[in-house]
Amino acid sequence: MSTPTASERLPGATRERLAAGVTCVDEREPLAVRSPFTDERLGSVPSCQPPDVAAAVERARAARAAWTDRPIAERAEILREFADLVLSHRAELLDVVQLEAGKARADAHVELLDVVLNADYYAREGPGHVASERRDGGFPGLTRAVEHRHPVGVVGLVEPWNYPLTLAISDMLPALLAGNAAVLKPAEATPFSALRAVELLHEAGVPEDLVQVVTGRGATLGEPLISSVDFLTFTGSTATGRTVAALAGEHLVDVSMELGGKNAAVVLADADLDAAVRGLVHGSFANAGQLCISFERIYVDEAVYDEFVDRFVDATAKLDLGASLSYGPDVGSLVGRHQLETVEDHVADARERGATVEVGGERREDVGPFFYAPTVLTGLPDDATAACEETFGPVVSVSPVADADAAVERANDTDYGLHASVWTGDTERGERLARRLDAGSVSVNDAYLGMWASTDAPMGGVDDSGIGRRHSAEGILKYTEAQTVATQRGHPLVPVPGVPNRLLARGATLGVRALRRLRRLGPF
Ligand code: NAD
Repeated sequence: MSTPTASERLPGATRERLAAGVTCVDEREPLAVRSPFTDERLGSVPSCQPPDVAAAVERARAARAAWTDRPIAERAEILREFADLVLSHRAELLDVVQLEAGKARADAHVELLDVVLNADYYAREGPGHVASERRDGGFPGLTRAVEHRHPVGVVGLVEPWNYPLTLAISDMLPALLAGNAAVLKPAEATPFSALRAVELLHEAGVPEDLVQVVTGRGATLGEPLISSVDFLTFTGSTATGRTVAALAGEHLVDVSMELGGKNAAVVLADADLDAAVRGLVHGSFANAGQLCISFERIYVDEAVYDEFVDRFVDATAKLDLGASLSYGPDVGSLVGRHQLETVEDHVADARERGATVEVGGERREDVGPFFYAPTVLTGLPDDATAACEETFGPVVSVSPVADADAAVERANDTDYGLHASVWTGDTERGERLARRLDAGSVSVNDAYLGMWASTDAPMGGVDDSGIGRRHSAEGILKYTEAQTVATQRGHPLVPVPGVPNRLLARGATLGVRALRRLRRLGPF
C-alpha cells in the first residue's frame, strides 16, 4: 500500500535537507524512517556514532558563550518569534509529525500547540524565574546576599517517538532561554519532526551551532552524550531511564527524567457520567493510547459502574480509526510492529487470566498495518500484565470499587506515579481526593489537557515515573547553577587577632540568639 500524500507532503528534497541538519563528521549508515500508516519508507537519517556526538557537543559548547552574553530579553524575543513560525508552518509540521508517528491529525495539533504554549510561557516568565534575587543575609545590615542563576552549559536531550515535536523541542526552550546550548537526540523512529523544528529555531534567530541534532541508536549514543553534557533531560521508558540514570550517576551529571506511567482515573458516584465518559474515552485513546499521561485503569464507584461501563463501551465502539492527513479520524496508528506486539501480548494475557474484552481486542489491518482497535477490559485480575505494566496502547481496564477510599487504594497500588484524574460533582471533594493520589499531577473533571496546558505549574512523575519536573520555574531552574554572592560590610567575619576563641564563640552565640529573637518578631 502506498500513501499518495507521503511523497507530496514530505518530498525527497525536504527529507534530504532535513537529514543534512544532523551533525556527522563522516559518512554513516542510513537509519530508515518508516511511516506507520503504511509501513513504507519515508526516508533516512544518519546512524550517528560517538565521534559525531563529540563534535556536536564541542560545536554547541563553542557557540554557547556568545549566546549567554546576549541580553535575556533578546533570547525571549527569539522564542516568541519561534512560536509565531510554528503557528505559520502549522500544516507542514502536522504532516511531518503524522507521517512519521502515525497519529491522528488532532493529536498532532495538540502537540504543536503545546510547543507554542511553552515557547510563550518561557518567553514571558522565564526571565523572571532566572533573574538574580536578593536573599536574607546571614547578618542583617552587614551581609548582603544575592542568588544568581548561571546556565549549566550544554544540555543533552534524549527524547521518545510518541510526541516527536513537542517532547523534542518544548523541554529545550527553557534551556535555551536560560543561556544554554543543546544537543538533541530524537527517537530513531521520528527524527524529521525534531529536525524541522530545529530549522525553525534557526530561522527565529537561534545561532547555527547552538542547537545540534544527532540521530541514531540510543544504546550507541547514550554514553558519549551523557558523559560530555552538563545536564541531561531524558523522556522515555522507565527501563531505559534506569540505564540513563546509572550512566549519569557514573559521570556525575544532573538529570531530569520523565518516564512511564500506569495512570488511574477515579469516577465517583456523584460524577457527571456524560462528562466522565467523554473525558475518559479521550483520555484513554488519544494518540492511540501512546501518551504518558493517558489512562490505562479506571476505577468506578459500584453504584454507577454498570451504567458507566455501558456508556463507555458504546462511546469507544464509535471511535473512528484512520490513516489520514486530514482531521477526520479520532484515532491513529500505533508507531510500529514492536508496539503492536506489546499491545497484543497484554490483551492475550488478560484474556487468558479471565478478563472480558468488552470492545476491541483486535488488530485493524483493514485500516493500516499497525492499527489496533480501542479496547476496554473488565474483570482484569490484579496480577495481569495489563493491570501492572504500562501497555502504552489503546487498552484500558474498568473496575468497580466500593467507595472513594477503595478507589484511592487501588489507584495508588502501582510502582508508577505520573498522572491521575478524579470525576465528581463536588469539586472540593475531588481536590481533596486528588491530594491523596500518589501522582505528580491530577486532573479533576478533566482528562489531562487543562493540566498539561498549565505551563506555570510543574509537571512530572513520582516513584518510577520520574525525577524532576518540566514546566514552571522548576522547568527552567534545573538548567541553571545557583551561585550565591555574599558581600560583607565592615569587618570580615573571621577571628579577631588577640581575642580568645572562647570569647568569640560566646559573642557568636549571643549574636545568633538575638537573631533568632528578631526573626521570630518578623520583618520590620
Ligand atoms: P525508550 O525508553 O525506548 O526510548 C526513549 C529514548 O531513549 C529514545 O530516543 C531512545 O533512542 C533512547 N535510548 C534508548 N536506549 C538508550 C540508552 N541506553 N541510553 C540513552 N538513550 C537511550 O522509550 P520510547 O519507547 O521511545 O517511549 C515510550 C516511553 O516513554 C513510555 O514508557 C512513555 O510513558 C514514556 N514517556 C514519558 C513521558 C513523560 O513525560 N513522563 C512522555 C512521553 C513518553
